[in-house]
Amino acid sequence: MAGTKTNTGENLKRQWQIPARQVRYREGGKWSMPLKGFPGALADENGCILFPTQEAYQSCSQNKCQICSLAVPLWDGLTYAEAHHIRPLGRPHNGPDAPTNILILCPNHHAQGDLGSIRLDLASLRCVPSHVIATEFIRYQATTIAK
Ligand SMILES: [Zn+2]
Repeated sequence: MAGTKTNTGENLKRQWQIPARQVRYREGGKWSMPLKGFPGALADENGCILFPTQEAYQSCSQNKCQICSLAVPLWDGLTYAEAHHIRPLGRPHNGPDAPTNILILCPNHHAQGDLGSIRLDLASLRCVPSHVIATEFIRYQATTIAK
């Protein structure tokens, strides 16, 4: 099956009719390749996040954990981070796949967020001006996901 993953982002763009110039795909949402065309989208098997402008993307993609500021360095000079859905996608939570429901986290904080071993607090998150995080999702996490 060599070659079937080639241009998977472009295949999803057609299949899902994503209104973007460029779509990057990575299983599990662990993107390290930067978006260069806008509007652009990052996709995984659950859906995609559309960034209308480069500014919206950059503010959301500095790859620094929004809890501890760690940016995991890679061999090629890029950094690694994970996109965490504050209110999880799918049942029973049915959170939206939207930038307002996404935090950029290091792998450790992503796991803690998914497992509910941390309680998110908007005031203590490292925020960037053009990446608006919806307080309703933070409240949902604090009351429903956090244990
Ligand atoms: Zn972290």
